[in-house]
Amino acid sequence: MARHRVKGPLVDVITRVDLDRKKAVAVVVAAGALAGAGFAQAASTVSPVDRLITPVAATKNLAAVMTAPPAQPQQGPQTIHSVDTGSEARKLLQAEQIQAQYHVAGALRSAEGAYAKRQEAAKAERARIAAEEEAKRPKCVRPAQGSFTSGFGARWGTSHNGVDIANAIGTPIVSVMDGTVIEAGPASGFGLWVRVQHEDGTITVYGHMNTIDVPQGAKVKAGQQIATIGNRGQSTGPHVHFEVWVGGGQKINPVGWLAERGVSL
Ligand SMILES: [Zn+2]
Repeated sequence: MARHRVKGPLVDVITRVDLDRKKAVAVVVAAGALAGAGFAQAASTVSPVDRLITPVAATKNLAAVMTAPPAQPQQGPQTIHSVDTGSEARKLLQAEQIQAQYHVAGALRSAEGAYAKRQEAAKAERARIAAEEEAKRPKCVRPAQGSFTSGFGARWGTSHNGVDIANAIGTPIVSVMDGTVIEAGPASGFGLWVRVQHEDGTITVYGHMNTIDVPQGAKVKAGQQIATIGNRGQSTGPHVHFEVWVGGGQKINPVGWLAERGVSL
């Protein structure tokens, strides 16, 4: 509060800026109009408004000021409504910060939502592609590429319980269907063998291989390499001996069994 004491009658001249109307209103208060000393005390408590109150040019012409018509009709003691601009500014700032935080939180939620949606869409797309590939994946394949050299049945005075496919040593041997490797290792007559059990209980047998590429217990897919063609055991040249066991061990002709599943040798 700028308070100017002038020789002679005490005159307080206050220029007050009306913030609402954005125009300056000059308020001239004559000391005589002040009822009691409370004004000085009251005025001293409104320090935050000081910045908004400037003295009228120190009343060079006091008489002119004293006689100037009041800016507004005045009746009795003037009540000065002060505004704690610091407090108001803080409230406004807090409101703006709250508003900004609200918008930021909203934007984050929106971004998170969009991200989650994209993740869901990508997951669905991966699942769709996987299902498509699974549907296209062959259910049954031939055990190896090569020449069909010997069929199922009587041969050389004995029974040939499988079929032979000849190819170079190292040629991949694959599981004909999805299944589980139930045996992988040495076997009499076969040199080495691998037995794979399939979902329907059927067991396929692969013999004479050069290498075994899957451990016992492994889950394998149709077409997955499990071994390579060799010439071990009772073999007259590099080939894979292939058997199909059904019903717990009955050996059947693999040609018909494969044909039923769309595979020809
Ligand atoms: Zn054979």
